[in-house]
Amino acid sequence: MRFLIRVVGLLFAMYAALSMIRRVLAAFSPAGHVAATTTVAGHLVKDPVCGTYVPERKAIQASGQFFCSEECRRKFQQLTIEQ
Ligand SMILES: [Zn+2]
Repeated sequence: MRFLIRVVGLLFAMYAALSMIRRVLAAFSPAGHVAATTTVAGHLVKDPVCGTYVPERKAIQASGQFFCSEECRRKFQQLTIEQ
């Protein structure tokens, strides 16, 4: 019986140590952090014209950039044509 208690205690200590290591790794891993923020807010892209952050799914994509509105897309294209 004493042996069994020692084995159970050892297993519990190992489990506690493993879950602690996993928690520490998750906190420091950048991939885990990105995954966590992605599920909460969605992937945000920056409008280069007005600087607004827009969810990628709602953004207007043109010439490799993302825009919050049709107006910003037009402004950006006018700017790039002028340069
Ligand atoms: Zn904009």
